[in-house]
Amino acid sequence: MKAAFEDVLKCAVDEIELSKEELIVLISAGGKECNALFQLADQVRRRYLGEEVHLRGIIEFSNFCRNNCLFCGLRRDNRSLPRYRMTQSEILEGVHKAAGLGCKTIVLQSGEDEYFRADLLAELVYRIKKEMDVAVTLSVGDRPREDYEIMRQAGADRYLLKHETCDPLLYARLKPGASLAGRVEELRWLGELGFRVGSGNMVGLPGQTVETLAGDIVLMRELKVDMAGIGPFIPNSQTPLGSCPGGTLEMTLKTLAVARLVLPLAHLPATTAVRTIDPQGRKLALKGGANVVMPNMTPRAYRTNYLLYPGKTGLTDTPEESFAAAVEAVTDAGCKVASGY
Ligand code: SAM
Repeated sequence: MKAAFEDVLKCAVDEIELSKEELIVLISAGGKECNALFQLADQVRRRYLGEEVHLRGIIEFSNFCRNNCLFCGLRRDNRSLPRYRMTQSEILEGVHKAAGLGCKTIVLQSGEDEYFRADLLAELVYRIKKEMDVAVTLSVGDRPREDYEIMRQAGADRYLLKHETCDPLLYARLKPGASLAGRVEELRWLGELGFRVGSGNMVGLPGQTVETLAGDIVLMRELKVDMAGIGPFIPNSQTPLGSCPGGTLEMTLKTLAVARLVLPLAHLPATTAVRTIDPQGRKLALKGGANVVMPNMTPRAYRTNYLLYPGKTGLTDTPEESFAAAVEAVTDAGCKVASGY
């Protein structure tokens, strides 16, 4: 191990706040340094959050999207994707099923679908909270502040809005018509409105550097996020970035591990994307700092068309099978399924 790496790791062990430059040293770990980093992230996770892993059932209720993000299969210009929108009763049925299986948090995610106005989402959240004992996370993209307010008043507990990359130029290139500053402002509003806030970033975006990844973690520390979804970028041939290389397992695991050191109490999912690029990805993430798994509770008929990227795992599974696979992943990693929210 290089002396510089050992020095920074020692600071992390002593829980000294790390600078961006020090985070770059950790994310640049190679060979045995990676194992030392993963082990420390695992220890920090166990010390702060114990053995428990939370299962958060995700329902992908619409794949319509007004945006044209260069990386995403749901982008407006992807005409080859059959579009779907679940009805309110289908969504409620899905939430009942997920809650019945044991999910204590339900994540409702969609493309940026203007059909689902704030009042419609609020009604849905209100009914879910009235009928079931679950926490509700919304992940429906950029909205005006009034919309977030309406959803929060209806009872939504958390909101997931990944900043994707802390590089403003890269953000503007990847998300035409949008700005990083705008998204960060929304993340601040969400906190002010009393949501538990989730952000996150993709690893391996074209033009991204190790410095960008360290900046992503610093930004999430500044925002005091409650959750950080960190997963690899996976190229999709139906998008303009289809021929770019994707994020690697090693870089994703290193970024996740460093995020755990910097955000000891944050909820960090072992993402579907990390499982997609490597069958061992989910288990390795759980052994390297992650403490959340998000079983897919979308009905089988719809999930095949929520195609952000190719090769997504579990597309032919039922919600019951996805839930069982998530429980297995948790026990395989030597952890326990959490009983709380
Ligand atoms: N539109 C909403 C938003 O912007 O928050 C939520 C839905 S969006 C499809 C959910 C997440 O999918 C994004 O935050 C992004 O990180 C991820 N995603 C999209 N395309 C991806 C790709 N090609 N590889 C990896 N992750 C991708």
